[in-house]
Amino acid sequence: MAAQGRRIDRVYNALLWRMMGTVTHVTTQDPVVALTFDDGPHPESTPRLLDILEKHGAHATFFMVGEAAQRHPDIVRRVAEAGHAIGNHSWDHSSLPLLSGKERRAQIRACEKALAPYGQRLFRPPYGHQSLASRLDALGLGYQVVTWSVTASDWQDRDAQWITDRLTDETSPGDIVLFHDALYTYVEKRYTDREPTLQAVDLLLECLGERFRFVTVPELLRSGEPQRRNWYQEADVDWLNRLGGAFGEPRRYVRSSGR
Ligand SMILES: [Zn+2]
Repeated sequence: MAAQGRRIDRVYNALLWRMMGTVTHVTTQDPVVALTFDDGPHPESTPRLLDILEKHGAHATFFMVGEAAQRHPDIVRRVAEAGHAIGNHSWDHSSLPLLSGKERRAQIRACEKALAPYGQRLFRPPYGHQSLASRLDALGLGYQVVTWSVTASDWQDRDAQWITDRLTDETSPGDIVLFHDALYTYVEKRYTDREPTLQAVDLLLECLGERFRFVTVPELLRSGEPQRRNWYQEADVDWLNRLGGAFGEPRRYVRSSGR
């Protein structure tokens, strides 16, 4: 009986982990990597990025902000028709742990509606901020939460060569790489320039095109064993409140508003 109990415990824990863990990468024998692009669609940089990906025969995943997607449904459609995957990045890029449960679920649902019929049930939390409650909300709405294992740091002051050199060294099979085809909120306005990101993607695909196949997140997840982490990151309210917004004044938070 004790052995059976332990077995049930193991199955239960594995199931719970599968439901509650956050996917960061996969372990795989295949030379596959998933590039991901957050915060778009953007009317200028996203179409240019699509051309670069097409030139290299690469596929990617776009975690879109619902409000931006609603303004550019033609770009959402173009991304999907080019064979890329589209995931949910909330309605207006709010830090979800600081909202009420009702507001959080409304954020995910409103984005889902803006991405329909192209959005997949993949969610990336804005800023990577996640609490147990916000993770449960994504689960309740049927979403798999996907973050990353490598970042381009392209929301900061980085040039294309710096991004490319680092990613060329750091990228391994099974990685999920974080880029931004837009910055919905920014630390400094000049960082919203997407030229370094676009150049870096072009250079990176040139350098690594022989070594890796660039696939969407759903394809990557099928290529190996998804690796999950307990990914809980608290929001830094003071930092959030200093950010600028690319489309008007962003949300301001009060420390006690989280539930
Ligand atoms: Zn974002």
